[in-house]
Amino acid sequence: MPSLTSENRKLLGQTAIVTGASSGIGQKCAVALGQAGANVCVNFFGKRTGADEAVEAAIASGAKAIALECDVSDEAQVTRMFASAVEHFGTVDILVNNAGLQADAPLANMTLAQWNKVIGVNLTGQFLCAREAVREFQRRGLRPEVSCALGKIICISSVHQIIPWSGHVNYAASKGGVNMMMQSIAQETAPLKIRVNSVCPGAIQTPINRAAWETSEALGKLLMCIPYKRIGQPEDIARAVVWLASDDADYVNGTSLFIDGGMTLFPGFATGG
Ligand code: BGC
Repeated sequence: MPSLTSENRKLLGQTAIVTGASSGIGQKCAVALGQAGANVCVNFFGKRTGADEAVEAAIASGAKAIALECDVSDEAQVTRMFASAVEHFGTVDILVNNAGLQADAPLANMTLAQWNKVIGVNLTGQFLCAREAVREFQRRGLRPEVSCALGKIICISSVHQIIPWSGHVNYAASKGGVNMMMQSIAQETAPLKIRVNSVCPGAIQTPINRAAWETSEALGKLLMCIPYKRIGQPEDIARAVVWLASDDADYVNGTSLFIDGGMTLFPGFATGG
């Protein structure tokens, strides 16, 4: 781990909220943003252990961090989470819209509850948090000494915003929705100097896709979809999120960055077509 000089603490003086940060990609994003100097609000819902671990890791790297419980699909809870963040750190500069889940079923068996749950967290949750973030960015106003931008929103989408996914229509629909939501918010808020982008992970080794990597047979099958022939790690995503949140990415707006080892390169066509 490089030492923390002001050179690599590019987010010093800024505050980030990372949703769904008690495990997987969100947890590593929270820690990495702290290592880059940001104050971090580690959102969790339900089990809190992983959020506390992220808080400890961020604090160990010299950052300030707190855990905040909130169901991102609940409007009142989202408002409260942002109010707590502002009360604690003064404002919010960066939102990582990460909370997401899967509730898989073949279409004929998919219940309305499974559909609503996935759309509620993955899409409505991102809308509610983005709306609250934009309100806070505007309330606070530009602080050129900490960032060129009024605020930054990074939506964690998926390769499935463009790859259809049989057996997961709720999930794929939610991520397709995240793409259009992200681009439309980016278009609307760019004149305010707010940057909104997505990161689209491929297969990253986290609890959400355990079944796809926990046996060597499953992993072998998964790697057939990944030209780079390794499963991704949460850090692969966290590094990009820190970059997108920093002024190094100041001219990057409304873009989707696919981080997928080439999963979106239609690997089936390497030998077919
Ligand atoms: C899903 C994972 C899946 C990956 C690649 C992600 O968005 O959450 O379960 O392994 O896409 O298919």
